[in-house]
Amino acid sequence: MENNKFQDIINRKMQNKTLNKDEIFFIISGYLKDTLTENLMISFLKSIAEKGMNNDEIYFLTKAMQELGETLDLSELGTVADKHSTGGVSDSTTLLIVPIVASLGVKILKMSGKSLGFTGGTADKILCFKGLKNNIEIEKAIEITKQTNGCFITQSNKIAPADKKIYELRDRIGLIENIPLIASSIISKKLASGSDIIILDVKFGDGAFMKNKKDAEKLANIMVDILKKEGKKTCAVLTSMQEPLGDFIGDELEILESILILKGLRKNNLLILSEFLSALIVEKAKDIPFNQALLQVQKSIKSGKAFEKLKEIIKAQGGDLTLFDKDLKSFKSIVIKAKTDGFVKEIKTKKLGFLTRHHKEKYACFAGVEIKTRVGKKLRQSNKIIKLFFNIKDFKKLNDKELTEIIKNYEKCFVISENNVKQKYKLIEKIIN
Ligand code: URA
Repeated sequence: MENNKFQDIINRKMQNKTLNKDEIFFIISGYLKDTLTENLMISFLKSIAEKGMNNDEIYFLTKAMQELGETLDLSELGTVADKHSTGGVSDSTTLLIVPIVASLGVKILKMSGKSLGFTGGTADKILCFKGLKNNIEIEKAIEITKQTNGCFITQSNKIAPADKKIYELRDRIGLIENIPLIASSIISKKLASGSDIIILDVKFGDGAFMKNKKDAEKLANIMVDILKKEGKKTCAVLTSMQEPLGDFIGDELEILESILILKGLRKNNLLILSEFLSALIVEKAKDIPFNQALLQVQKSIKSGKAFEKLKEIIKAQGGDLTLFDKDLKSFKSIVIKAKTDGFVKEIKTKKLGFLTRHHKEKYACFAGVEIKTRVGKKLRQSNKIIKLFFNIKDFKKLNDKELTEIIKNYEKCFVISENNVKQKYKLIEKIIN
């Protein structure tokens, strides 16, 4: 009986009909309760991929995934901020933004996911601080946020459980890159996590789920509209993921990069974007002009306040602080150089993300890479293009054949052309309010 009703709704979507709130809630709650089979859910997801959804349908899908789970009550903290990136390569903005805004008195309780496909996830990176607990009860997270203004947590099973289940299925059947599904997945979690200010970083380019600016803009507009409808202070920033955002790829290396930036020892696009997103949060939290917020952000980094704040938060979450003094020289490193003179025409960002994940899974000693060049740069033969990092202890176990294979794989990620390539990517394209 129920199966017939599920099938009718899916058929209606396949016939390009608009689904109403009850129909969408019925499907999502059926899947959560296991009364809707996995095969039917796959048909439903495929019908969305094929026929699309209008904005009302995406809103109902988002609300179903939020409301069929718990929504956190953070009211005892006052105004709380959050941010979300649609996912990229070498994107550690969260590791910078949380301590920066917390050091300026803005409360931020950041719920993050694990790495997905070729993109990294804060939940994995943050666990490089040995002993750190991010899988904690909300009461504990609220206590830490009261004490330090910031906390890193993972999504519990109670927050948007339907998204968790659907996301795993989408991952298995390869249905990630779809606007209604991405928008509802992200915003259901953001609404359930209870923050008042939500800043979205919507990526586009080779290293992002959205390959072009037009789709990224569409996704951003949908997400901002839903958040506004729900009374949140929000905006989305469209940013380029045509090259890795920071210089490092690999969980521990990305943590070390964030520490170097907070110590004032490295300035790059990761810093620029983190400052920008932090300033948007501070602007909204303190109701001050953006430029004033940006100055506060930059001062917090320069004075070392943000660096000290990161230490304080990591310590409060039980993390070991030795990484704060770890030197990149403690790794075995190998530099790959350009084989010819020329210009960097393209950096295959998605491939860099996949390769790094693959090599880390395959070789215990592999720590990650540092990008040493950028698109549009003039190269002389023997200029560095990328540096590989290995943990010294296990490096001996890697044989020459394996090392040559790793090097060859990375060389293929850089397209060098003879001609001058003018193309340079604009990091921050647009703000959508
Ligand atoms: N991040 C999410 O949380 N969900 C998606 O569907 C894509 C990126």
